[in-house]
Amino acid sequence: SSKRAGKNQLSFYNKEMQEQALASIRLEEALRRALCREEFVLVFQPIVSFSSGEVKKFEALLRWKQPGRGIQNPGTFIAVAEQTGLIVPIGYWVIEAACHFIRQQMQAKQSVKPVAVNLSVCQLREAEFAARVESLLLRLNIPPALLVLEITESMLMENVELAMVLIEKLKKLGIRIAIDDFGTGYSSLSQLRHFPVDILKIDRSFVVDLETSAVDRQMVEAITAMVHKLGLKVIVEGIETVEQMQFLNKIGCDYGQGFLFARPLPPEQALQYTGYAGLATSECLPNDDRLR
Ligand code: C2E
Ligand code: MG
Ligand code: MG
Ligand code: MG
Repeated sequence: SSKRAGKNQLSFYNKEMQEQALASIRLEEALRRALCREEFVLVFQPIVSFSSGEVKKFEALLRWKQPGRGIQNPGTFIAVAEQTGLIVPIGYWVIEAACHFIRQQMQAKQSVKPVAVNLSVCQLREAEFAARVESLLLRLNIPPALLVLEITESMLMENVELAMVLIEKLKKLGIRIAIDDFGTGYSSLSQLRHFPVDILKIDRSFVVDLETSAVDRQMVEAITAMVHKLGLKVIVEGIETVEQMQFLNKIGCDYGQGFLFARPLPPEQALQYTGYAGLATSECLPNDDRLR
């Protein structure tokens, strides 16, 4: 009967919910252990200049080498790390590890590129955050201008006052600020001009359909023009094709990040990355009318 089926369904969902709750508790426990067991690593994705192909920066991205489960991307654990507040100590570890990569670059005696680190909203709420980052930079002897902190547009808009205070403190220290995932939140560019930020990262969702969507092309072009009027630089995320790169270069976007240029790389490989070499060949491709 339907009553019976309903009952079965109910117990099915209960069981599923129980399993989910258990899995999330296990994940929390595993995450707690991960920090002291040194299971976290950073990978570094190059951000390159559209016009020259040179590396301009790196973005540090967190990975978890979970024993027996391989390498986990943030998508599988960041949410639980945020819900439990574990992202705060993890976040300090990330900044410190990013600083070690800056030091590695210095020791390799090559020109040192700034490294961007992602922040989570829990870190925004940490009263001590700016002071702790300052003492970390002092202790590791890292010039603050080499650290970029990325704050997503939605984080910013949901915590305008908190974000403003923190950004001002960080800017006073000489740290640079990027707005991440721009275009996915609810801000307007006119609101943005109140924040003393340096870089704006246009979200990957605008890039995916660049070749087929005139609206997306117009959006990216309009955002870029306005952001340049504010005196900021534009980074476009998630570039995977030569056509996307050519269009973005043509409309004057400054920098790009994506699998076309490089995947996120372990530190040793990131140090060896010498830039995108595909610019010369791509210029020989016939112009694509769709991209005008
Ligand atoms: P995000 O900051 O927007 O980082 C860019 C994400 O896009 C990365 O995913 C990167 O691997 C991916 N990506 C880069 N180029 C391409 C491309 O051409 N195609 C595609 N499909 N993807 C591309 P990842 O490493 O999985 O990180 C996902 C998100 O997790 C990040 O998004 C960021 O919000 C968060 N995250 C990563 N590391 C940290 C961290 O240390 N702390 C915090 N709080 N969040 C982090
Ligand atoms: Mg980011
Ligand atoms: Mg992003
Ligand atoms: Mg993103």
